Amino acid sequence: MQSKTIRFDFRSDTVTRPTPQMRSAMAAAEVGDDVLGDDPTVKTLEARVAARFGKEAGLLLPTGTMANLAAIMSHCQRGEEFLCGTEAHAYLWEAGGAAVLGSVQPQPLPVRPDGTISIDDLRAAVKADDPHFAITRLVTIENTFVGRILRQDYVDEVVGFARDRKLATHLDGARIFNAATGLGVSVASLAEGFDSVSVCLSKGLGAPLGSILVGDVALIARARRWRKMLGGGMRQAGIFAAAGLYALDHHVDRLIDDHANARALAQGLSGIKGLTVTPPQSNMVFVTLALELANGLSEALRDRGIAASFWPGGRMRWVTHLDVDSAAVDEAIGAVREFAETRR
Ligand SMILES: *Cc1c(COP(=O)(O)O)cnc(C)c1O
Repeated sequence: MQSKTIRFDFRSDTVTRPTPQMRSAMAAAEVGDDVLGDDPTVKTLEARVAARFGKEAGLLLPTGTMANLAAIMSHCQRGEEFLCGTEAHAYLWEAGGAAVLGSVQPQPLPVRPDGTISIDDLRAAVKADDPHFAITRLVTIENTFVGRILRQDYVDEVVGFARDRKLATHLDGARIFNAATGLGVSVASLAEGFDSVSVCLSKGLGAPLGSILVGDVALIARARRWRKMLGGGMRQAGIFAAAGLYALDHHVDRLIDDHANARALAQGLSGIKGLTVTPPQSNMVFVTLALELANGLSEALRDRGIAASFWPGGRMRWVTHLDVDSAAVDEAIGAVREFAETRR
C-alpha cells in the first residue's frame, strides 16, 4: 500500500535533496577522469577537507560505508582486528564488510549509556602476541555516536591509550560537523590525534552523495588502491565533489539551526503525555512511546505527510536537517499531540 506523499521527512538527515544552488554548482563543475587523477574539482575538495581536518591528504568515496571499509583495510592486514563498540556503524551497520571483504576481525566492546567504551575494556581486549589470537591493530570510535557528542577528555583518553599500545586510530566522523557545531569547536580539534577520519557529505551537509577519508599521505595512498578494488574509483566525480564544496561553504554554519530545531522538537514532544524524550545533543531526538501510543502513531503521522523512524519497543527517532524548518517542527509536534489526545 502506498502511503501519502511525505512533506516533512524526519527519518534521517540522509533524505536531504540538493538545493537549486547546489545543483547549479554541480552543473558548472569542471571535471576530468578522477581515476586518472584528472578531476580538478575532486582534487580541490579532497585538499580542502584534509586541510580543514588538519591532515595531509583526503580521498573522495561514494559512501561512508566504503570510507570506513577502505580505512579499516588500510590500517589492518588480513588476520588482524579492530576494537569498536557493539553499536559502531562499521561493525553493526555495514553488512560485516571488514570481515567479509577485508578479512579483518571486529572486536566489539560494550557501549555505556553516554556512548563511550571503557578504557579498561579497551585495554583488556588488546590481544597478547600469541598465535591463538588475531593481531589487534586499530581502535575506532564514532563522533557523534547515535546523536551524542563524545566528551573531549574521553576522546583524548582513547587516543592516548591507543598511542601507548601502538594501535592505530580511526574516527568515524560521519556527523563530525554536528559534533563540532554542538561544541563550538573546529573539526580539526576533534580530529586531532586520529590517524584517519571519515566524514559524510550526504547527511546534514546536504550533498546527494559522497564521503571523504582524511589521513596522512601513505594511508590515503593505500586507501586509494582499496577504493579502486572495492569499485569506488569514479570518473567525472567532480559533478558531486562540487556539491561537497558547495556544502562546505554554505551548509556547515547552518547546522546550528538543525540543533535548535531538534531542541525545539524535544521540548514540544516532552510536553505530551506518554512520551519520554531524551534531550538532544545534536540533530537527533530519541523518544520512547507509552504502549497506547506505540500502535498507530506512525500511520497517523504518515496520513499528515510526516515521517519519522520507528523501532520495536516504542522507540522512535526524529532527525532535523536542511529540509525541515521550524514550521515543520511545529506541525510535527501538533500532529503527535493530536494523536496522543485521541488515545486518552
Ligand atoms: C551514515 C553513517 C556512515 C556511512 O553511511 P553511508 O550510508 O554508507 O554513507 C558511517 N558511520 C556512521 C556513524 C553513519 O551515521
